[in-house]
Amino acid sequence: MRADLHVHTTASDGTESPEQVVALASAMGLGCLAIADHDTLEGIGPAVQEGRRRKLEVLPAIELGTEHRGQEIHMLGYLVDLSSRQLLSELAYFRRTRLERVTGMVNRLNGLGFPIVRERVLEIAGGGSVGRPHIARALVETGRVGSVEEAFELYIGDGRPGFVPRYKYSPAKAVRLIRSAGGVPVLAHPGLAPADELIPALIPEGLQGIEVYHPSHTPQVSDYYLSLCRRLRLLATGGSDYHGAANKKHNCLGAYTVSGRVVDEIKHLAGKNRG
Ligand code: AMP
Ligand code: ZN
Ligand code: FE
Ligand code: FE
Repeated sequence: MRADLHVHTTASDGTESPEQVVALASAMGLGCLAIADHDTLEGIGPAVQEGRRRKLEVLPAIELGTEHRGQEIHMLGYLVDLSSRQLLSELAYFRRTRLERVTGMVNRLNGLGFPIVRERVLEIAGGGSVGRPHIARALVETGRVGSVEEAFELYIGDGRPGFVPRYKYSPAKAVRLIRSAGGVPVLAHPGLAPADELIPALIPEGLQGIEVYHPSHTPQVSDYYLSLCRRLRLLATGGSDYHGAANKKHNCLGAYTVSGRVVDEIKHLAGKNRG
């Protein structure tokens, strides 16, 4: 059984619904998917339901964006309790700050002469966790920006004139929030923003794994993090970071997977965390 443990849906910035992603995974013969949307659990319910119909296991997960010394560090949380009060209240806070930040970015972009409106950005986000990819699509719709990539490069990438930072946790705080909800914290794609000094420091906070297999990792990078996992006794996970076939980030669903043994380990750790 192969499991893809990092998948996004329209609940955040993926372009396919939870049902569509599960149907695709099932058609590909995958046995398990973790739905890990940015700052939201909304995609999980529909994915689990579709998974039941298709005999595909869906693991609830989340991906939290954090910041460490100016670098963006992502933290995955597997098998978080979907009814955790603390987690739900923090996610509601993230959603509010994301909405305020859209207002700020739209104002800046209006100031730069782009006729985009906040309502359209929210419509593109479809009620999900709203972020820069949705603003980028609204910019492309005006016909004055050629592509989502160009939007990031010129206007909304970090430090560009339309950019407004969003509220972010520290990695340690994200680890603690995930553990407070009984979940298994896993450092996402460390090859994208190397902060290796952070890893030993996060273990006492409750870090339990590293995402070793990811499209941004060369085989050498994966080997390096695999040996680090062995040395530090952390779980090695992996996933495709799929954002939909229509997304500019054209990661392929199922291109990075792990075995059922890793899924069992995650369940075992989550059981211990709650025990
Ligand atoms: P946000 O969380 O709203 O700041 O948006 C960050 C998201 O934007 C990331 O998770 C990526 O999916 C996307 N993103 C960041 N940089 C780029 C880029 N250069 N081109 C396309 N998408 C990007
Ligand atoms: Zn994303
Ligand atoms: Fe990420
Ligand atoms: Fe991701």
